[in-house]
Amino acid sequence: MAETILDKSLYRFDEREPSYWEATICRPKERILQSTVNAEVAIVGGGFTGTSAALHLARDYGIKAVVLEAGSIGWGASGRNGGFVNIPASKLSVAQLVRRFGLEETKRFFAASVEASKLPKTLAAEEGFDIKPQGRGWYTVAHHPNRMPKLRDYAENLRNHFQIPCRVLDADEFRSTVHDGVEAFGGLHMDVGHALHPLSYCLGIAGAAERRGAELYSSSPVLEWGRDGRRHRLLTPGGAVLADRVIIATNGYTSDRLHPSIAGRILPAISNILVTRPLTREEISQQKWVSESPVINTRTLVYYYRLLPDQRVLFGARGDVCGSVQSMEQIRQRMSSEFYRIFPHLTDITFDYFWRGVVALSQKLTPSIGQLGDDETVYYALGYQANGVATAPYAGKLVANAIGTRRPVSAPLPMAGLPAKFLVPGTRPMALASAYAWYRFKDWYHDRKALS
Ligand SMILES: Cc1cc2nc3c(=O)[nH]c(=O)nc-3n(C[C@H](O)[C@H](O)[C@H](O)COP(=O)(O)OP(=O)(O)OC[C@H]3O[C@@H](n4cnc5c(N)ncnc54)[C@H](O)[C@@H]3O)c2cc1C
Repeated sequence: MAETILDKSLYRFDEREPSYWEATICRPKERILQSTVNAEVAIVGGGFTGTSAALHLARDYGIKAVVLEAGSIGWGASGRNGGFVNIPASKLSVAQLVRRFGLEETKRFFAASVEASKLPKTLAAEEGFDIKPQGRGWYTVAHHPNRMPKLRDYAENLRNHFQIPCRVLDADEFRSTVHDGVEAFGGLHMDVGHALHPLSYCLGIAGAAERRGAELYSSSPVLEWGRDGRRHRLLTPGGAVLADRVIIATNGYTSDRLHPSIAGRILPAISNILVTRPLTREEISQQKWVSESPVINTRTLVYYYRLLPDQRVLFGARGDVCGSVQSMEQIRQRMSSEFYRIFPHLTDITFDYFWRGVVALSQKLTPSIGQLGDDETVYYALGYQANGVATAPYAGKLVANAIGTRRPVSAPLPMAGLPAKFLVPGTRPMALASAYAWYRFKDWYHDRKALS
């Protein structure tokens, strides 16, 4: 199936990732497609996007959807992310967003992002499942004092233009109310979102979708996409789905072979997570780790971390561009030494888990939600720029609304439309490696400038 540009070890659909999330959840029994079934809507991909689309179609419009997932439900990024409900899903600055899309559409984008951040708690309450929420809002920590002015400007923009509640903390306040460390020079608290157990959330949505009438199949990769008259015919190893409409919900795991209109448009990138053993009360108080809200630092190649319910620390980073087993080991070592450097009171702590997954970047640098121009029976929702915990389920809902109301997808401009195709799709890993090298240089240069 896979026409992929990353190492094949990242696409072992028959193996579950050895993550902390898998270790702390009880999965329900799953079924495999073993016949030909009919559906109004077929959904390729059983992560946040696909399961949310299925739930909203079934619950809000009585439309039967069939979800086809290559691994198990939540096998992809949805079951292995950091669980940060943070916004917005964009790699563009506010100024860039406004230049590209105008102030009004940027305001709609932020308003939609805030709405998206409320979805986990809303769905959990409405459908009666547990997302294990933690913290209130999330922090951006200045890893260097010279990042504070930019955080102050950003806070002003968020408050004045987008009515987003937020607050700037100086170094002392940050160290006494969030955590201490050698890279804690103040921060920005955005009072939107929180932390959650991502796999519990994904399985919660999936269970609710099934109860409402959707059919979900695991270990059922779409190997071939053809036509049967006007209907779509999706072939899996054990069966087929005949559907009037199809939603592409494969995000970073999108194969270039799945559909020609999506091929070469997504840049898959690897994100990695380490989880420590449970910390003792003394260790936590030595590091002055107070807050359960998630934290992301101000590097271009960010580090992200949070305290888990059983007093472990989850620490995430990017950096590996090929995903081979050797490069995975290198990134694991680099991440653990960075962890020990940043949190000097935790240098004896061992790690119990390490895993990775694939996110979807694109040249658009904002999400892509819509309907194909050359075939309006095909919808897509992907490219969340590594920020899909809030946005992916929301995107699934937007697509379900469009299908249910028979109207075009109603998304603010920054979230609408396909990303451009890469000129030479085969060079994407090189493009990513060059971008990472440039980001590292930028971070290094910016850090040094402030010292001189
Ligand atoms: C390590 C890591 C940490 C992250 N941390 C955060 C975070 O803290 N906060 C945040 O907002 N975002 C985070 N993200 C990003 C976030 O997880 C994703 O944006 C989000 O999960 C995307 O959801 P999705 O359903 O669109 O895609 P996915 O969950 O990746 O699901 C796509 C699914 O499609 C399936 N698939 C692919 N091809 C086929 C096929 N041919 N047939 C059938 N199935 C197919 C795959 O098996 C996969 O399960 C992180 C990602 C990773 C990897």
